[in-house]
Amino acid sequence: MSQTPWYHGVIYQIYPRSFYDTTGNGVGDLRGILEKLPYIASLGVDAVWISPFFKSPMKDFGYDVSDYCAPDPLFGTLDDVQAVIDRAHELGLKIMFDMVWAHTSDHHQWFVESRSNKNNDKSDWYIWRDAKPDGTAPNNWLSYFGGPAWTWDSRREQYYLHQFLTSQPQLNFWNTDVKNAAFDTARFWLDRGVDGFRLDVAHAYLVDKDLRDNPARTSGATSDIPSSNPMSRQVRLYNANISENMNIIRDIRVLMNEYDNRCALAEAGGEDSEAVAASYANGTDKLHLAYSFGLVGSPMTAPVVCNVIEKIESVIDQGRICNATSNHDFKRAVSRYTDNDIHHDAVARLNMALGLTLRGSYCLYQGEELGLPQAALSFDQLQDPYDKMLYPLHVGRDGCRTPMVWNHDKPHGGFTSSSAPWLPVPDAHRARAVDLQETQKNSTLNTYRHFLNFRKNSDILLSGSINIIHADDNMLVYERALDSKKIICAFNISDKENLYILNDDVILRDDLSHGVTQDGTNIAFAPYGAGIFESI
Ligand code: BGC
Repeated sequence: MSQTPWYHGVIYQIYPRSFYDTTGNGVGDLRGILEKLPYIASLGVDAVWISPFFKSPMKDFGYDVSDYCAPDPLFGTLDDVQAVIDRAHELGLKIMFDMVWAHTSDHHQWFVESRSNKNNDKSDWYIWRDAKPDGTAPNNWLSYFGGPAWTWDSRREQYYLHQFLTSQPQLNFWNTDVKNAAFDTARFWLDRGVDGFRLDVAHAYLVDKDLRDNPARTSGATSDIPSSNPMSRQVRLYNANISENMNIIRDIRVLMNEYDNRCALAEAGGEDSEAVAASYANGTDKLHLAYSFGLVGSPMTAPVVCNVIEKIESVIDQGRICNATSNHDFKRAVSRYTDNDIHHDAVARLNMALGLTLRGSYCLYQGEELGLPQAALSFDQLQDPYDKMLYPLHVGRDGCRTPMVWNHDKPHGGFTSSSAPWLPVPDAHRARAVDLQETQKNSTLNTYRHFLNFRKNSDILLSGSINIIHADDNMLVYERALDSKKIICAFNISDKENLYILNDDVILRDDLSHGVTQDGTNIAFAPYGAGIFESI
């Protein structure tokens, strides 16, 4: 076994509001994470990424930070944070926090000072501009969360930029003081033992200095933003991934190199998310990892997955992608293969086998190891401003953020003792609770443990090449290879039975496959069957 860096492994993502509530207020907390860390370690993952738990007015549920160096009292204390870091390390887990530097909350002291007048020490810490002569906003940029990306501030009598909510003003990374202040918040946590960061919206630390208008998207051209969001009609040429943003990416690497064995993982979006992600992780002067949106935002079909793999392979060069099929921003993966729950067990395993055999690292989102499908919520149950804006055409975020299910026979799946968790726990999820799956040898949960252990010990999966050997509307087959050894991964991404001829000297690993039978070169697949074959 060769030694690979820890961040070439699997990173388990915790969405803290929905993980485990120890205080009975209906919201998960740091003590809850502490209590459940042994569960995470038992999965066989390498690291944990915790979505933001910092002080925040919670307009975007923690992605609007008002103090980067203090936990929100809702989640716990600084001692609780330290206890989580230390316990993770005792259990052999690395720990990553989520740094949201492209914007702060409007409650952050930096913004409070910046907006107070035009001549304070932080007056240039955000992107302020005068109105155009006709009183309208400085340019045509739109916010991801609806409406213009500019809001008028009556104190300064100027507009400020925000790419998300109006309460998430964009920091001005062109100002070195801002960059230094942000980097100091990283050092604050690195000094306390944190092993790395997921970097929110890393493609947009800088925006065009001249604030040029974005062009309209030509009709027919696709966007990774849902068509129900007007932002999909603009090409984000000047407010995402501008060439100078790479300088900030390089500076972050220099910062991380001040410490041993740490990792920065970029969330990389923009017009060509795979290419952006690849460029941000390409070379030892860039980040250690980057993830793209290819497999989290789309329907999961064989052609889609095939395109994403081919695209990544064509741009990846020396870098390393961190794959993910689910996270806290998109409809859960299982439900993007099919809405038919008859197939959800098979789909959950197929998704596992796919995600854990792709080339690159992998982020495993809480509940994915249980095979949780997307929760269907009514408008009244929605909390997320983005879901509310796009209702009913595109909902995704709240339905993937419902609480973890720990006990099938306790109220709210054992997530909380409160009568009102912040999001409801669907009944269907309780049948997939951790306590039930622990007792079933072949449960999705236990299958994940087995697969994760296989992956951890496979040089081919950790560092081998990937080559697609067959793709059609239903089947996707690729080969992972290292030296003379190979693993063939074959997926029937459809609700029909399928046959495939495999002319290789390989045998089926029953323990890692499901819905597949091998008869010589003839391989029969049940709906959503997945086969892992090893060279003899
Ligand atoms: C995060 C979202 C958040 C947005 C603004 C995203 O990329 O993953 O949850 O709403 O950044 O911070």
